[in-house]
Amino acid sequence: MKAVVIHEHGDLEKLRIEEVETPIPAADEVLVQVKACALNHLDLWVRKGVPGQKMPLPMIPGSDIAGVVKKAGPFAKGVKTGDRVVVSPGLSCGRCTPCLTGRDNLCASYAIIGENRDGGCAEYVCVPGVNVIPIPGKLTFNEAAAIPMVFLTAWHMLSGRAQVRPGEDVLIHAAGSGVSTAGIQIAKLLGARVFATAGSDAKLKKARDLGADETINYRKLDFLDEVKRLTRRRGVDVIFDHIGADTWEKNIRSLKMGGRLVTCGVTSGYEVATDIRYIFFRRLSVLGSTMGSKGDLLQVMDLVGQGALKPVIDSVYPMSEIAAAHRRMQDRKQFGKIVINP
Ligand SMILES: [Zn+2]
Repeated sequence: MKAVVIHEHGDLEKLRIEEVETPIPAADEVLVQVKACALNHLDLWVRKGVPGQKMPLPMIPGSDIAGVVKKAGPFAKGVKTGDRVVVSPGLSCGRCTPCLTGRDNLCASYAIIGENRDGGCAEYVCVPGVNVIPIPGKLTFNEAAAIPMVFLTAWHMLSGRAQVRPGEDVLIHAAGSGVSTAGIQIAKLLGARVFATAGSDAKLKKARDLGADETINYRKLDFLDEVKRLTRRRGVDVIFDHIGADTWEKNIRSLKMGGRLVTCGVTSGYEVATDIRYIFFRRLSVLGSTMGSKGDLLQVMDLVGQGALKPVIDSVYPMSEIAAAHRRMQDRKQFGKIVINP
């Protein structure tokens, strides 16, 4: 089969398209013919490498996979050849206390398809049978692939960690990123008033189309000043962040009394200074989040099936143009998900 293979970390030229052996499913696995695989910021980390984190190279990247089951191992229950499926990207032991209390994302052996084992930027991929989920409704493969990572992450951040309540003000940074297109929709669904930031008016218009109530062009206006203006100086209840260094200090100052900052990433850098006085005087909570439980993903899939949440596709690239797709993401040109078709 053809696959994108990373032999060593580095720039775009490290994405090599090669002919490799089609994998054979273990007894509890299924072989999925990949129809679509969406990119995440994680794909950029996997390609570039992360200091202090060892990844199994060579590796096929790609964590958001949709396709058709071609073969199911004898111990893969409830799934059969021909099923249209989307793949849950998280892997866990299934036996420990976190796993058995619905917090499998806290499992000591938690791992991600496309980061810790071969992913879906290929014609075929093998995954555990318990990781495949039927595609809800009439979604296309491209739409299905655009769901798991970002909706799982955003749902866990807003519903699980920050526990957004109706009527609260939620600030969503970088509206064009996949996780923020999910975050805007989820915050609205939970009853919040949503403020979204982006670096272009075109992206802000799309954010409003997704439900954002107020938008802030951070290249033209200071988001802290805008938050103060829009909330009559009170600040927002919840901030949804994955930018890190560039937004941190002003995030802390944008929160109202009892506010919550929930973070799942550091695309602009991870070292920051915090004036701790804001944290205790205003009784703030800083909440870390990454991925979510498989139950979170099943809930999200039900909501997508009901039409309450919609995948947002920016663009679709053939696998032969994987480098161009990575470039679009690292240049922050996208609004929504970039999808690869093998
Ligand atoms: Zn476990």
